[in-house]
Amino acid sequence: MIKSLEELDLKEKRVFVRVDFNVPYDAEGKVADDSRITASLPTIRHVLKAGGKLILASHLGRPKGKRDPKYSLMPVAARLSELLEREVTFPEDCIGDAVKKLVGEMREGEVILLENLRFHPEEEANDPIFSERLAGLADIYVNDAFGTLHRAHASTVGMVPLVKDKAAGLLVLKEVQVLSRLLHEPARPFVAILGGAKVSDKLGVIENLLKLVDGLLVGGAMAYTFLKAKGVEVGASLVEDGKLHQAAKLLERAKTKDIRLELPVDHVVARELKAGAEFKTTSGAAIPAGWMGLDVGPKTLEAYEAQILAAKTVLWNGPVGAFETPPFERGTVEIARTLAKSAGMTVVGGGDSLAAVKVAGVGEKIGHLSTGGGATLEFLEGKTLPGLKALETEGAP
Ligand code: AMP
Repeated sequence: MIKSLEELDLKEKRVFVRVDFNVPYDAEGKVADDSRITASLPTIRHVLKAGGKLILASHLGRPKGKRDPKYSLMPVAARLSELLEREVTFPEDCIGDAVKKLVGEMREGEVILLENLRFHPEEEANDPIFSERLAGLADIYVNDAFGTLHRAHASTVGMVPLVKDKAAGLLVLKEVQVLSRLLHEPARPFVAILGGAKVSDKLGVIENLLKLVDGLLVGGAMAYTFLKAKGVEVGASLVEDGKLHQAAKLLERAKTKDIRLELPVDHVVARELKAGAEFKTTSGAAIPAGWMGLDVGPKTLEAYEAQILAAKTVLWNGPVGAFETPPFERGTVEIARTLAKSAGMTVVGGGDSLAAVKVAGVGEKIGHLSTGGGATLEFLEGKTLPGLKALETEGAP
């Protein structure tokens, strides 16, 4: 069983909340997109209202275990302070005597944001001594960083059993609730759209989804590995030759289970992946030599849209084309718009799909925008996420 933050008495307790404040910075070093910060505001506000002393911890980027000002969380502290309209204390480190002293002097309702956990290589190594030092700052451990639950690091796993009490934050609870519903009791028909470049990343998800969905719509570069596995000409499109065998096996499995695994029936193709490149639309699934598939074509879009609109549950992860490079963004933006029109439950995960939802301006009309990339996929693969397992307490509620 996993406790909710709301079940615990937080008054005057030191509440250590692992958040995912891994946000992008702009050229001036300011927070360019604060959606990951705002996603944890419900948890933060709950701790403050309940009279807790709030200690926030996060990673940012990949500083490779070294202090690097480029990856400091200081701009995040500034943005958080604006959002909360209160002071956020920002020490120079996440462990050490100065941090211990600051935490010891905290009063209820105060907020500290620790410096980037990954300035210490011990964080990703899940080092026991580093875990102990973090745990020493807390009476209660809360994880609200859904996007990091698939990693067994000191702040997500190592420190957890060393703190007296533990719970899931409100964001983690919501993610788990929505994604569990997809796994266990989706309203049907349930249709999933998967895109992106790397088939290898998604084979496990496809395999698990084939047990759950009524239809699986494939787009993006990974469709070409499936098409090639079926013997269709794919020209110069991106293909993972090492995965052809597995792709063929999945196609076979879908067929025996009578699940519609749909591949593009036409494509937008060009000779090179370049903004404004000369492009054309193929009339069928085959792609001529020297050309590469860079987006789904209009017939494919029409077919996919009809299935999305007929579904009661829709899951989308991964762009259906090279959407960062115009004009190959059209299919991906159209998919975002179609999801927005759906009357069913819609769930979108993965950085690229979330970006497309933003470009299409339809975020408000999507049922659930999942904050996890890899974590969402691993959850949907049916894997146990180490960070979630660490939150489990024994016994009945
Ligand atoms: P992934 O990291 O596997 O989710 O793939 C995301 C990337 O796939 C994005 O950067 C897209 O531009 C890229 N992508 C999607 N479709 C294509 C395509 N047909 N050709 C080349 N790249 C693509």
